[in-house]
Amino acid sequence: MNFNFSEEHILLRETVRRFSETELAPLVREADDNEVFPKELFPKWGEMGLIAARYPEKDGGGGFDKIADCIIREETSRVCQAFASSLSAHSHLGIWPIWRIGTEQQKEQYLKPAMAGTKVSCFGLSEPDGGSNIRALKTHAKKVDGGYVINGSKLYITNAPMADFMLLAARTSDELKASSISLFIVDLPSANIEIQKLAKESIKASETGLLFIDDLFVSDDALLGGQEGNYPIILESLTENRVGVSANCLGMAKAAFEEANTYAHERIISDKPIGKFQAIGHKLANMSAEIEAAQWLVYYGAWQVDQGTLDNAMAAKIKLIASEMAVKVSEDAIRILGGAGIMREYSVGRIHRDSLLYIIGEGTSEIQRNIIARSLGF
Ligand SMILES: Cc1cc2nc3c(=O)[nH]c(=O)nc-3n(C[C@H](O)[C@H](O)[C@H](O)COP(=O)(O)OP(=O)(O)OC[C@H]3O[C@@H](n4cnc5c(N)ncnc54)[C@H](O)[C@@H]3O)c2cc1C
Repeated sequence: MNFNFSEEHILLRETVRRFSETELAPLVREADDNEVFPKELFPKWGEMGLIAARYPEKDGGGGFDKIADCIIREETSRVCQAFASSLSAHSHLGIWPIWRIGTEQQKEQYLKPAMAGTKVSCFGLSEPDGGSNIRALKTHAKKVDGGYVINGSKLYITNAPMADFMLLAARTSDELKASSISLFIVDLPSANIEIQKLAKESIKASETGLLFIDDLFVSDDALLGGQEGNYPIILESLTENRVGVSANCLGMAKAAFEEANTYAHERIISDKPIGKFQAIGHKLANMSAEIEAAQWLVYYGAWQVDQGTLDNAMAAKIKLIASEMAVKVSEDAIRILGGAGIMREYSVGRIHRDSLLYIIGEGTSEIQRNIIARSLGF
């Protein structure tokens, strides 16, 4: 067992940290206030190879591994979770399935520009009636001459208001069975898709959409991989991405801890730094230990992705621990800062409301517990 990051991984972390601190940090406040994502970030991330890092070189990727992808996510999330979540929806959810089973034409037309950041993707799975219960999705694709006609709705779709295409999950038969669920690549914006941008209390600078799809015709070429029945690919994609978003949680928790730790050293009450109060010191100790534990789970999961051994129960355990940890650590950080913790001058308030995303998105904590319990035979 070797727990050391390679020289390449260390260099990558330094590069992404420098980039995030110089290029992302100055944009955070305005983007959060205005709830607008700075779209110019995608081509910048593309140029730096941060979108394509985990994909093989032969497919136009950076030839790194999942560990590298987690480092990128962690360092981006350390500065701004809204930006990191939009990156995650694009670099994984919107394109991983295309990389996995897309036709050569689909890869050329969508995957390559997405890796370069010149096209922005989104992933349309969740629906008003089916967030946790994805098998019950109602959006329907009816086979017609030369293609399909799609009707339905999608809810809480990251990047949808600014995306150039969506990987859309739709039912290709009326039966409520997994094999009826297929994926389509749909160009956006479209006259047949109404997109409403949603106002949020978390990751405000990541744009989220509610979509109404009305008689949208797509040609047969839009069917991912040219084959109906892509549910196993959706599950594989979500499983890997649970490790990915756990790295996002790690980045948020580290940023909250760093701010609280600095504050505990600098804030003097009764002639001593507040960290000397046992209640504060113990809180920081717990936060540090919980971050350490989550860190090694996340990178173990990334290593398993690279070995091809990650299963859905392990992914669920990692996501459950990391997401709940980020909520708790960021709340404790607010407590340590006292009144300053809920002032906008500091980051911990924003980090805490952003941390709430991942106890919901990519499957709620309850759904992760269901998956783990199933693996135990229940
Ligand atoms: C900011 C944001 C961005 C998102 N981005 C995307 C995206 O890009 N693409 C996409 O497709 N989706 C996206 N989602 C949707 C996300 O995946 C869903 O919100 C999530 O799966 C939960 O679904 P829901 O909101 O419908 O909650 P519900 O499914 O209605 O759940 C409500 C409550 O009931 C509980 N519950 C439900 N079923 C069970 C069960 N079987 N056992 C125990 N408890 C249960 C849940 O845990 C939760 O506490 C996003 C969500 C948010 C908030």
